[in-house]
Amino acid sequence: MKSNQFVIIGLGRFGSSLGRELVELGVEVLGVDRDEEKVQEMSHILTHTVVADATEEESLRSIGVRNFDCGVVAIGDDIQASILATILLKEFGVKQVVAKAVSDLHGRVLERLGVDRIIYPERDMGIRVAHQLVSPNLLDYIELSPTYTIAELTVPECLTGKSLAQVNPRGKYGCSVVAINKPQGIVIAPTADDRLEKKDVLVVIGTNEQIEEFQAAIRG
Ligand code: ATP
Repeated sequence: MKSNQFVIIGLGRFGSSLGRELVELGVEVLGVDRDEEKVQEMSHILTHTVVADATEEESLRSIGVRNFDCGVVAIGDDIQASILATILLKEFGVKQVVAKAVSDLHGRVLERLGVDRIIYPERDMGIRVAHQLVSPNLLDYIELSPTYTIAELTVPECLTGKSLAQVNPRGKYGCSVVAINKPQGIVIAPTADDRLEKKDVLVVIGTNEQIEEFQAAIRG
């Protein structure tokens, strides 16, 4: 389902950055915060902004939150407010409800409330940065399952000028290069003859172990 109208409850660092990016992506965003200053700061960036306490049913009703495809509860510190706002969005029938959790317990409560997606920004960013720090070639990754990952790896000096057949990630490590992102454009499903150049980024799919072995081998 593609959502086109978002309501974000809480315009702290997370909520405001999310809202800004959503607007950049061309969707309509209503930002709600009980703090007038936060609303003022975002009023020229988001499509609509309103000062309201999201724990008050009447306020959310008058804003018309039921008409939104997706509601994001971006309140962290005040867990009670986060839970109440989440319950209200669910009760108003917002199709997709996303909420930010600041702890495992907070996340478990949100899960019980039937939240469609729970985000742990600090925890997830910590994990991501740790992976990137221990693996200098790793730009980004997506965990497809507990076992399989897609990783974006920079091409080190030792691989420049070599063809995929020479590097042979599948034969040597079991992982496959599904794309090569080159400055001049992306090559999807590259062939054995495709050559790697300095600024290329490899998009590799495999088990976590296979990708780790490949990364270790190309670290130089
Ligand atoms: P961040 O890390 O994103 O800055 P945070 O985890 O520190 O946020 P809070 O500061 O608790 O989270 O909340 C983020 C925003 O949510 C704040 O701007 C705050 O004013 C707003 N907020 C908190 N409670 C409510 C509420 N009941 N109704 C509307 N907005 C609220």
